Amino acid sequence: MSFSTLGLDPSLLATLTTLGYSAPTPVQHSAIPAAIAGGDLLVSSQTGSGKTAAFILPALQRLHSPTTGSAGQGMGPRILVLTPTRELALQVQKFTHSYGKGQRLRTASVVGGMPYGLQLKLLSKPVDIVIATPGRLKDHLDRRTVNLSRVELLVLDEADRMLDMGFQEEIDAIIARIPKERQTLLFSATLEGIVGRLAQRVTKNAQRIAIARVAETRPDITQHALVADNDVHKGRMLDVLLRESEVEQSLVFTATKRAAESLSGELLGKGFGVGALHGDMRQRERSQMLQRLRDGKLKVLVATDVAARGIDVPGINLVVNYDAPRQAEDYVHRIGRTGRAGRAGVAVTFIGHTDRHLVRQIERFTGNVLSMMVIPGLEPRKRASAR
Ligand code: AMP
Repeated sequence: MSFSTLGLDPSLLATLTTLGYSAPTPVQHSAIPAAIAGGDLLVSSQTGSGKTAAFILPALQRLHSPTTGSAGQGMGPRILVLTPTRELALQVQKFTHSYGKGQRLRTASVVGGMPYGLQLKLLSKPVDIVIATPGRLKDHLDRRTVNLSRVELLVLDEADRMLDMGFQEEIDAIIARIPKERQTLLFSATLEGIVGRLAQRVTKNAQRIAIARVAETRPDITQHALVADNDVHKGRMLDVLLRESEVEQSLVFTATKRAAESLSGELLGKGFGVGALHGDMRQRERSQMLQRLRDGKLKVLVATDVAARGIDVPGINLVVNYDAPRQAEDYVHRIGRTGRAGRAGVAVTFIGHTDRHLVRQIERFTGNVLSMMVIPGLEPRKRASAR
């Protein structure tokens, strides 16, 4: 199967070839032709599935044709992508430029935690694609510094996350300012519950596309669980895991910002090149930390869930859930930070003696089995309860 059957323009096909994309992923195979056909879509797909290209390629193709928007030649964007976090927004913007290489593209990221100055400047000129987090975009709408009357295509990326983060009101306010005769593509890990209700409100006769969960489509991630007695035990096991010779870079998840700080301090004390990433940091600090990771200056990054969304660093071949994720969906998002770009990755989850139910929940959600692992010499003291 190749990209050439999906209805994409030859210039986009040529770019995909230069990027080394030889075949579409399942979500791209189903969503690209459907999106090009013009209808609304509800796509359940996971991070790492190639979903970004699934909406950006049809969006770029749309820009090859003159505007269909009723407002004609206004300044506002023809395409609006809403994402839950600034990291994800910047990631989407990066992919937009790499997939649209050679195309004259005017994009603006309109995200929280960044100065208004540059955003105001970009929004005061004609722009094709705006990639935004809901809070900041709503601010610009309130200040009348953005005009959404030209939007033809609206993409809600990781809609479930946006709702989890409490952006429902902002999303509704934004959508109220977009023409009704638009195309809407909604991507989400799940299409049930609150996301389903949002979908009903914002899409028309949408086609549903369900893609297998990331763990099923990503056999390149080996998944283990380790029983930990307490934090001291976790610290010792983490030390062993991080020193494994195959580990290039690793991402370690903690439940809280404070735990991320203190664990990174501990690892620093043990001589690791380590940094922390969490929501209390200023955007500039977060960007610098990510750049250090990308440049290979950090071997370990200790992060919280929200801060780590959208991280795409191919060197990460180990993800450690130092604190087990509270929900199976968080697990999928966390482990999706490894095994990027077709490389192999390992995901290790520390669980308490009474946390076997968590493992079962993750297994049910992902359809994958987590193999129980023990580090010789660091066996848990008590026997874990039977499954
Ligand atoms: P996403 O799910 O959009 O975050 O994409 C996950 C990763 O897969 C990104 O690093 C993309 O560069 C990569 N990718 C997306 N589509 C393809 C493809 N068809 N072939 C190879 N790599 C891809």
